[in-house]
Amino acid sequence: MNFSEIIVETILSVPFQENGYLIYRVGGLECLLVDPGFEPEKMIEQVKNKGLNPQAILVTHGHADHIAGIDSVREIWQDCKIYIGEEEKEKLVDAEQNLSLWFGFAITVAPADILLHDGDKLDIAGISIEVRHVPGHSKGHLVYLFPTVPRPILFVGDVIFKQGIGRNDFPDGNPAIQIEAIRSKILSLPDETVIYAGHGQPTTVGAERKTNPYL
Ligand SMILES: [Zn+2]
Repeated sequence: MNFSEIIVETILSVPFQENGYLIYRVGGLECLLVDPGFEPEKMIEQVKNKGLNPQAILVTHGHADHIAGIDSVREIWQDCKIYIGEEEKEKLVDAEQNLSLWFGFAITVAPADILLHDGDKLDIAGISIEVRHVPGHSKGHLVYLFPTVPRPILFVGDVIFKQGIGRNDFPDGNPAIQIEAIRSKILSLPDETVIYAGHGQPTTVGAERKTNPYL
C-alpha cells in the first residue's frame, strides 16, 4: 500500500498524441517515468524543474511512440533502469517489431535492464507497484498497478482507453486474448481505480466496465 500522497503528471507528445507520465511522492526526491515517447525534452524539462531524480522507466509495451524518448532520458540519468515485459524486450532493439520501420523512421533504444512478468512486485522511489501482463495489443504488454490509498492507480499503455481499446491487428496482437485479459486483469479491480492510458483522457475501471462499447 502507498499511504502518502502520490502525484501523477501527464506529458503529452504531439506527433502520436501519446501520454507519458511522471510519478513521484509528495516531498520525495526520486521519481518514476512511464513510456517516454516522442518529444522527450518535455518530460525531461518537467523532471528537472521539480529537481527529481528518475529511478526507473516503466515501459508498458515496446511500440515506438512509447519508447522513443528512452535514450534521451538515459543520457542525463544514466542510472535510471529500463523495465519492460520479458516478451516485449525485443521491441526496444528491433525497429521492425516496434513498428517504427513501418512509419519510415527506424528507431531503436537501449536494451532492457530488468525483465518483468505477471505478478511481479516492485518498490521504487518509495512507491509499491504490481505488474500485470495484459496481452492482445502487443504480446508482452504490461500494466502497472499502484495500490494507492484511497484510490488505486493503473497505467495501461494501449490496452484500454476511455471508451475504447487498443488495436489488436498487429502481427503479435489477438482480439480474443485482449478482451479476456482486460476482463480478468483490469475489470477485476475496484471501480474507483483510476486508469491512465497511453492515449486520451484518464478514466476509471467502473466507468469502463459500465459504458465501454468494446467490452
Ligand atoms: Zn501500442
